Amino acid sequence: MSATRTLEDLKATLSPSDRMPLVFLGHGSPMNAIEDTAYSRAWTTLGQTLPSPKAILVVSAHWMTRGTTLVDVSAMPKTIHDFYGFPDALFAQKYPAPGNPGLAREVVSLLASHHAEEDDTWGLDHGAWTVLKFLYPDADVPVFQVSIDMSKDLDYQLEIGKALSELRNRGVLILGSGNVVHNLRAVQWGAGARPHDFALEFDSLFADKLDARDFGALANRDGLGSLLDIAHPSVDHYLPALTIAGASDAGDDLTFMTDAIDLGSISMRSYVFHAR
Ligand code: ZN
Repeated sequence: MSATRTLEDLKATLSPSDRMPLVFLGHGSPMNAIEDTAYSRAWTTLGQTLPSPKAILVVSAHWMTRGTTLVDVSAMPKTIHDFYGFPDALFAQKYPAPGNPGLAREVVSLLASHHAEEDDTWGLDHGAWTVLKFLYPDADVPVFQVSIDMSKDLDYQLEIGKALSELRNRGVLILGSGNVVHNLRAVQWGAGARPHDFALEFDSLFADKLDARDFGALANRDGLGSLLDIAHPSVDHYLPALTIAGASDAGDDLTFMTDAIDLGSISMRSYVFHAR
């Protein structure tokens, strides 16, 4: 198993490849965007470690649609401040990267059998820009989002990932942004919150199944049972983790990055699939 490696080892082990790595990041609190945290530091290091992408396709937990998969084709995606009750400094943040309308329209075609449609109203929500700000601080890599279809079951995002995977050969970084465990009702504010048992259990189960490439188990509601329900009262933050798994293939190694449980019930586990 390769997944015991850490971000520190990733640079040494990334083999030159024409196939772009895949990244899933646990984004957690929007405050990570303006605070110096272990997570924001890891995102900075990751951006310096990955090969330079020609474009970035982001699947964020915060763009939820029903019955369709939308692809943002706007030339200049706007920065969306989709949260409440945070400091002005967070609302002042902008991520002025250009979009990539041509590539985004190709993605609509790639996902034609998944009810994909063009959209020019979204932009970059905080699932995207709070991490991109550290990965690519110059905002000079074109970026666009693809929504998650909340009307479908979990395995649908594995299919979406598989359909998108060919973009890896064209220098496109596919970035999933959510959280492997995300239960806001169980959040405990303040430093030193102890992880809930369910959070540790689901996070560990997820890591084991991901490492074993048993993606079917990760998308099996019956198998995951009530543990899924408590780890994800709504699966929006879980789905992007499955998209990234679905885009991987047998030739990929897996490296886990940050894996702490934040605020008791938010897993910050992040990972990179990369060609051997
Ligand atoms: Zn979120």
